[in-house]
Amino acid sequence: MQEIALIVNLTAGYGRCRLKYPEVAAYLKQNKIKAKSFFTEKRGHGEELARQAVHEGFEMVVSMGGDGTLNEVVNGVAGSQVTLGYIPAGSGNDFGRIFGLKKGEVIKACSVLKDGHVRAVDLCRTNGRFFINVAGAGFDAEVGHMANIWGKRYFSGAGAYVASILRQLAAFSPREMVIEIDDQRICTKAWAVVAANARYFGGGFMIAPTAEIDDGLLDVYIIGELSKAGLLMVLPRVVTGGHVSHPAVAFRRAKRVRISSAYALAAQADGEIIGRLPQEFEITGQKINMILPNGGIEGVGGRA
Ligand SMILES: [Mg+2]
Repeated sequence: MQEIALIVNLTAGYGRCRLKYPEVAAYLKQNKIKAKSFFTEKRGHGEELARQAVHEGFEMVVSMGGDGTLNEVVNGVAGSQVTLGYIPAGSGNDFGRIFGLKKGEVIKACSVLKDGHVRAVDLCRTNGRFFINVAGAGFDAEVGHMANIWGKRYFSGAGAYVASILRQLAAFSPREMVIEIDDQRICTKAWAVVAANARYFGGGFMIAPTAEIDDGLLDVYIIGELSKAGLLMVLPRVVTGGHVSHPAVAFRRAKRVRISSAYALAAQADGEIIGRLPQEFEITGQKINMILPNGGIEGVGGRA
């Protein structure tokens, strides 16, 4: 195996990544996988380092950190022929969940680098940046924003998001939105519109149980007009994907979603706040080669 570039965000997962890095380094050494580590020093640095690794001629670039780090590395290697690997060591680790890769299971993730198989994953875009997991606007993004600036400081994993949900629930209500899904135009009050390439967001919520990462389509969910009590009833069902049958939840598959509103609602992609409405989320037609665990995708509607 050729030398790999390992892009590491030691601060990911509030110390988890720093704790796990020696395990990864030891495993790679034991298994004679040569690796050069690049450590991120600030937000956005992962993208810069990944681009540098591509220029240096690495054929495999591996992201070690959370979903935010992975998003940066995706943006750094997009458009190249590089194979992207992923060692989840952040607080959410939503992308890894579809393969049963749990946070902190770094050795299992490392073994994928030599034993996994390469899959061409859809590159999605919003606001000039790529994403591969889940994007959206409204309540989910406001919660993500709250989790980033407050929740993750006091709670770990899903707890950070649950606490942030409760805080945002007090402040938020469904807002009038104009949602263009391919050629269809929907005007409705909604809590959130989610455009999903993979299945999980928010630290373990299965928002899009039947999304496929390589079908050339986004799974779009509109969480429509519900009371706060109604939303509180639906939210626990999102953990297992049970929300999809709720009458206030609408589902479409599309290549492009544009969301606008008179309200400057927050929008997120791969858990990172990308700005405010209006935003467009689209399948680009470009792919990224990722080395992923064998055995396919887990969960509802998964294929073995
Ligand atoms: Mg898809």
